[in-house]
Amino acid sequence: MKANVNKDLCIGCGACQAIVPDVFELEDDGLAHCKLDSIPDDQKEDVIDASESCPTGAIEVSE
Ligand code: SF4
Repeated sequence: MKANVNKDLCIGCGACQAIVPDVFELEDDGLAHCKLDSIPDDQKEDVIDASESCPTGAIEVSE
């Protein structure tokens, strides 16, 4: 699984970082990014949760 943050949509609310800090973090520009090229199995559920919780739909998840 891969995850990507569309920075054109991200508003920097920090929800994704709060849900799964091992995967998402806010950068110096105040917007989130995905730290990992590939999401480990034990983080997938939390990444999907973060994606569904993002208020702007900025987190794109793909296999
Ligand atoms: S939850 Fe969405 S809007 Fe909020 S920081 Fe993460 S990617 Fe950006």
